[in-house]
Amino acid sequence: MQQKAQKISILGATGSIGKSTIDVISRHPDLFSVFALTANNNIELLLQQAHLCSPEYVVIANPKQFQQAKKLFSEQQLKCEVLAGHEALVQVACAPDVDVVMAAIVGAAGLLPTLAAVKAGKKVLLANKESLVMSGDLFIQAANEYNAQLLPIDSEHNAIFQCLPADFKYGDLCSSGISKILLTGSGGPFLNTPIDDLHQVTPDQACAHPNWDMGRKISVDSATMMNKGLEFIEARWLFGLEATDIEVVLHPQSIIHSMVQYLDGSVIAQMGNPDMRTPIAHALAYPERIESGVPPLDFKQLADFSFTEPEIARYPNLELAMQASNAGQYATTTLNAANEVAVAAFLQGQIGFMQIAQVNNECLQQTSTHNLESIEAVLESDKTARRLSASIIDNLSRTELQKVGS
Ligand code: NAD
Ligand code: MG
Repeated sequence: MQQKAQKISILGATGSIGKSTIDVISRHPDLFSVFALTANNNIELLLQQAHLCSPEYVVIANPKQFQQAKKLFSEQQLKCEVLAGHEALVQVACAPDVDVVMAAIVGAAGLLPTLAAVKAGKKVLLANKESLVMSGDLFIQAANEYNAQLLPIDSEHNAIFQCLPADFKYGDLCSSGISKILLTGSGGPFLNTPIDDLHQVTPDQACAHPNWDMGRKISVDSATMMNKGLEFIEARWLFGLEATDIEVVLHPQSIIHSMVQYLDGSVIAQMGNPDMRTPIAHALAYPERIESGVPPLDFKQLADFSFTEPEIARYPNLELAMQASNAGQYATTTLNAANEVAVAAFLQGQIGFMQIAQVNNECLQQTSTHNLESIEAVLESDKTARRLSASIIDNLSRTELQKVGS
């Protein structure tokens, strides 16, 4: 008997992960049908995607774009209903008809819709690592309570998931004979740049990742290695790990996407070309396998295959994230918010590349320990950290201007 196609909502459809998801599902129209596509502002791309995928709903998150979106969709006689605003993101994430939710909004804006999908007990494909970094324990508790199936899209976590034994129990490395999780990272575009030159690098240089084609926020995070820091926190929550269970290893070729080391000396690695369609296809089809469009790895072309340790002076954000992860939920929520504000300021030319870590550090230093026992408390803490980091950035910019003027 032929299986019914699974209905999917793609949150953040117009982004890098969203586009790769549409590429994969378009190869399997018998397996997937689209319930909803969402975007923040990009109506043009959303229109093109709607022509291709025939969704039942599209959501434009920015309410200011609603009238324009409605006009264009009706002019092109697209049958889908056009919704707007953040409430609508939540609605299409938890609608009863939806089987699968791709959570691919960037940043804290992804938290509430992703959590809504979790609380509706959906199969949630988690790309939006920030939601887990912000609300770790609450998020995992909700996934357990509402029986949501969480599948990691981040290539490293998807790799770890593939390398763990099928009967792996959350947080219990010992019973599975695991000694360590090796979280790999490329080191980004400035792996070999003299550290003294990092102050002057431009947003475009920071976004030119050597192996991966990604959105601008995560590209900057990869260059500072905050991305690996957020992934360190993400891995702890996804698999129930202690900080000492994880070792970060630099692997500039991005062919191995992470590894699991066992007590007997075996190391199981997941490999593939650096293309997010592989983890996306893996999670979409799990536990089956489907074709993703990614060319097979050609080992004869792999001249270099190297591994090193990340330098702390080059990647202060990595260290900060590890410290925050040990300090507790308030610290990772604060760091995530500060980093989003600092990265946006760097992309707008307001602060320098190395000042991203400075803002993050000052924001953490100026925030006192507090408990986060509800999502409301998480959102409040996020807001406070955003205000604080914005004022730290203003002070930094003023000091820079005074230096120029004197
Ligand atoms: P992107 O910037 O390319 O796309 C972001 C998407 O989110 C877009 O559709 C945009 O319209 C939407 N969006 C942005 N702000 C929004 C808001 N305020 N409200 C609602 N929607 C909003 O980002 P990306 O590179 O696709 O990354 C998406 C997520 O996936 C991030 O959390 C990132 O860390 C994670 N991720 C990405 C990659 C990658 O290769 N790109 C790899 C691993 C994890
Ligand atoms: Mg990753």
